[in-house]
Amino acid sequence: MGKEISMLSRRQFIKLSSISAVLPLLSLVKPISPASAAVMAKVPPDDPAGIALKYVEVAGAAVRTDKMGVPGSEQTCGNCRFYKDSEIPEWGGCALFQNRLVVKAGWCMGWIPAA
Ligand code: SF4
Repeated sequence: MGKEISMLSRRQFIKLSSISAVLPLLSLVKPISPASAAVMAKVPPDDPAGIALKYVEVAGAAVRTDKMGVPGSEQTCGNCRFYKDSEIPEWGGCALFQNRLVVKAGWCMGWIPAA
């Protein structure tokens, strides 16, 4: 009887030791949520939504008409309401493209001035 108790205690000790060794490591693991994965994806040149909205990575390559009092020549993703800076320089998430990355110097027909 005493031996069973000591075996059980030993097993529990080993189990608890391995769990307590792993727990601090779990705090280092950051899960990649579907939202952040989407934020990291760049809008490719052949993206259907990008084509529909005439998205270009160089704003000057697009015909931009004056909009809401802002000359077309001054419109870029960087001063668009839908643009949000990311950790990647010169790239930011665009709400119109499900927060996928667009070039700060780019442009599309969905442009509206930042608030
Ligand atoms: S909606 Fe704005 S930020 Fe998004 S691609 Fe068009 S111009 Fe760029």
